[in-house]
Amino acid sequence: MALPFSQLVLASNNAGKLREFAHLLAPLQIEILAQSTLHVPACPEPHCTFIENALAKARHASAHTGLPALADDSGLCVAALGGAPGVLSARYAGPTPPNSGLSQDERNNDLLLENMRGIGQRRAHFYTVLVLVRHAQDPQPLIAEGCWHGEILGEYRGNDGFGYDPLFMDAMTGKTVAELAIDIKNRISHRGQAMAKLLQQLERLST
Ligand code: IMP
Repeated sequence: MALPFSQLVLASNNAGKLREFAHLLAPLQIEILAQSTLHVPACPEPHCTFIENALAKARHASAHTGLPALADDSGLCVAALGGAPGVLSARYAGPTPPNSGLSQDERNNDLLLENMRGIGQRRAHFYTVLVLVRHAQDPQPLIAEGCWHGEILGEYRGNDGFGYDPLFMDAMTGKTVAELAIDIKNRISHRGQAMAKLLQQLERLST
C-alpha cells in the first residue's frame, strides 16, 4: 500500500497499546513513531465521549510534531455498571499513590472486582475509536470503531496483555484476553476490528 505519507506518529504512551499498534500497522510499511520519542507532552482527555478524546489526542500529537497522527481512545464498558468505567477506564481507581506497591492496572482491576461483587449480570464490551489526522487541522479525519463483547469474571485468569485483560472473558473462545496470544487478540479485539476498517479507508487513499 503506497500511502501519501511515510511517517505516522502514534498518540499514545500506553506500552501495551503501542505493542499492539506496531503489530497491526506493520502492513503499511511506513515509519511508526511513538509520541514519547518526539517529546509530545501528555494531552488532556477532558471529554465524556471516546471520539472527542481520540480527536483531541490525534490533533495534539500532530500539532506538536507536524506529522500525521493516529490516536485511539478506548475503554471497558460494563452493562451492570451503567457503562462504567467507560472513558475513565485508564484512571478508574484514581491516581496511583507513590509506593502503593500496585500498578494502576492492578488497582483498576481490584476496584472493578469489588464493584462487581454479588452482581449476576456480567456482560461487558471493550470499545475503541481510532482517529487519523493528516495534519493538525485536518477537516476530514479518518475514523473507525470496534467493539468486543464478553463478560467480567469474578477472579483473575492469564498472564498476558494489559489493563482489564485478566478479567475480561471473550464470549467466543471462553478465554480471558490475558490467556490469548497477541496475534489472536489482534485479530478479534476492538482495536483489531477498528484497525482493519481504518486500513480499508487508507487503501482508498493510497496512490
Ligand atoms: P485510553 O488510553 O484513555 O484510551 O485508556 C484506555 C484504557 O482502557 C486502558 O488503560 C485500559 O485500562 C482499558 N483498555 C483499553 N483497551 C484495552 C484492552 O485491549 N485490554 C485491556 N484493557 C483495555
